[in-house]
Amino acid sequence: MQQYIEEAESALLHTYNRYQIVLDKGEGVYLYDMEGKKYLDFVSGIAVFAFGYGNKEYNDALKAQIDKLIHTSNYYYNIPAVEAAKKLKKASGMDRVFFTNSGAEAVEGAIKTARKYAWLKDGRTDHEIIAMNHSFHGRTFGALSVTGNPKYREAFEPMIGNIRFADFNDLESVKAQITDKTCAVIMETVQGEGGIYPAEKEFLKGVRALCDEHDMLLILDEIQCGMGRCGSMFAWQKYGVKPDVMTCAKALGCGVPVGAFLMTEKVGQNSLKAGDHGTTYGGNPLACAAISKVLDLFEEKHIIDNVTKVGEYLEKSLDQLVQKYDFIQTRRGVGLMQGLECDRPVGPIIEKALEKGLILINAGANVLRFVPPLVITREDVDAMTAILDQCLSEV
Ligand SMILES: *Cc1c(COP(=O)(O)O)cnc(C)c1O
Repeated sequence: MQQYIEEAESALLHTYNRYQIVLDKGEGVYLYDMEGKKYLDFVSGIAVFAFGYGNKEYNDALKAQIDKLIHTSNYYYNIPAVEAAKKLKKASGMDRVFFTNSGAEAVEGAIKTARKYAWLKDGRTDHEIIAMNHSFHGRTFGALSVTGNPKYREAFEPMIGNIRFADFNDLESVKAQITDKTCAVIMETVQGEGGIYPAEKEFLKGVRALCDEHDMLLILDEIQCGMGRCGSMFAWQKYGVKPDVMTCAKALGCGVPVGAFLMTEKVGQNSLKAGDHGTTYGGNPLACAAISKVLDLFEEKHIIDNVTKVGEYLEKSLDQLVQKYDFIQTRRGVGLMQGLECDRPVGPIIEKALEKGLILINAGANVLRFVPPLVITREDVDAMTAILDQCLSEV
């Protein structure tokens, strides 16, 4: 393992401080490193592998598509893309889909959609977008420009222009940023990287009302919190609020790199047209066969029910740890997207967990994040908390 790590460090650009293990295979909710050590996985590739590893139906669907047709071009139709788009429309209640290769690209598309929508209305080229402090939307320039964390942006200035930041869950601060140039508000329904902060119902409803009043588009980034993670197919579906544009990725392909941005018919009719946007790979047959199978499996396996049930159990189990350890300040989250905020950096806890065969990740320096496969059971939660409890007692 050490040799591979050294070779990795001499060949890969050092943009990650990686944990010192080489993962080799996965089975259910477990991962194995090259030396055969087994890890209970409460990260799932950062909210990606919803069904756990080695799901036979999913793997078979991909293999069949590989043998049939992997890639064409968006200049032609293909069957998996039609199937995937139909199912995604049904699951989301949105009307039009554009497939991308990643989350960041979905955010780029959403931003272009908002600007084009506004431009068609008034022809101005100085429209503004309101984004949230502590948000995360990805690493490309548009996505980075609406990411409310200077740490990610500083060395890469200038960003795209005309972005204003408001405080999440503070409606007055959003109001204060509205001008006659504002064309959209973008936010995560549940902030992920920023530390697991769910939007409050009043806040999201308030922002929706402001968007209606000023004809601004509400863009909800569901890349991490969507696809069942919060106990509904998309997190906003629990709020009684519908976005104009939505982004999706991570668990959408369950491991095949793919994302999407979706919009209502009204926005679709009044924004991007032929020639305005494109992608070579986006929505190719292989990626769309994955999406299509993923959406089938969500229904067949009653994934949302499991998230609700086990999510509640996870909340209770984590609440017990909050009670037990003074340095854990609070738990936040919805369903199987949970965070424990500590009064100190959680890196040493994650390291210790890894030693004991549990994979966890942080969300910001002081928050332990729990985004396990959506098929976990109460027994898996018990196994996780047993190891975590031990780690916490040792730090
Ligand atoms: C991960 C993430 C992104 C970026 O997705 P990539 O596929 O890494 O480009 C954007 N928004 C949110 C909320 C995310 O969690």
